[in-house]
Amino acid sequence: MRFKNLASGSTGNATVVEAGHGADCRRLLVDCGLGLRQLAQRLGLAGLQPSDLHGLFITHEHSDHIGCALSFSARHGLPVWMSEGTWLALGEPDFGDRLRLARDQVPIDFGPMALHPFTVPHDAREPLQLRCEDGQVRLGLLTDLGHVSPHVLSQLAGCHALLMESNHDAALLSQSRYPAFLKRRISGPWGHLENTCTAQALRQLQHPGLRQVVAAHLSEQNNQPDLVRQVLSDALGWPPEQVGIACPVNGSAWIEV
Ligand SMILES: [Zn+2]
Ligand SMILES: [Zn+2]
Repeated sequence: MRFKNLASGSTGNATVVEAGHGADCRRLLVDCGLGLRQLAQRLGLAGLQPSDLHGLFITHEHSDHIGCALSFSARHGLPVWMSEGTWLALGEPDFGDRLRLARDQVPIDFGPMALHPFTVPHDAREPLQLRCEDGQVRLGLLTDLGHVSPHVLSQLAGCHALLMESNHDAALLSQSRYPAFLKRRISGPWGHLENTCTAQALRQLQHPGLRQVVAAHLSEQNNQPDLVRQVLSDALGWPPEQVGIACPVNGSAWIEV
């Protein structure tokens, strides 16, 4: 299994997860928070065309995750998984027969991969994040949550790679020019993960098989990639350069799990 983040943060999120070989190969696009042209361009940089994808998984209804999902899935005939709450919050868009409803802890058969959605605490109707398994390795995808619940930790136990939110630094956020209501929303229990909370979760998720950690959904105003690398690598006992950063525009390289 391998994955590549195409874009990360409040301006748009999308990640490709690939498993299997040859005719069995399947690729899932997790979140679709870009415009059609931008998405095609970022897929191109990943060496892919839209027709190389086999499905979409939308984590929640916020615009930086839904983006062009409706038109993209229609244009390319791709099935779309999301929770019923996400679909309702979007205003019940007409995906035709391509809509697949996903639920917490109900596995999805995606060919060589099993997808395991799980609930996270975030200010959306029914947000789901995802664990992907191919029988050998486990990849955890986790962004957009205000705190790391025991449920989240149990769902991500034993992952070999994690793409994980490290949204802001508490001091940078409190000093920022953001209005008070927005600071409260971001730092609250249904907002976004603060760097030290991500670090704390990584301490709990670390095991000898954990080989890749990529920090995601970094705030461009209230965080700094070097700071994230420092805080997360300290928690893991890794050299800072071993912690990857998903860049808002360029995402990440292809990463083998
Ligand atoms: Zn987001
Ligand atoms: Zn969100």
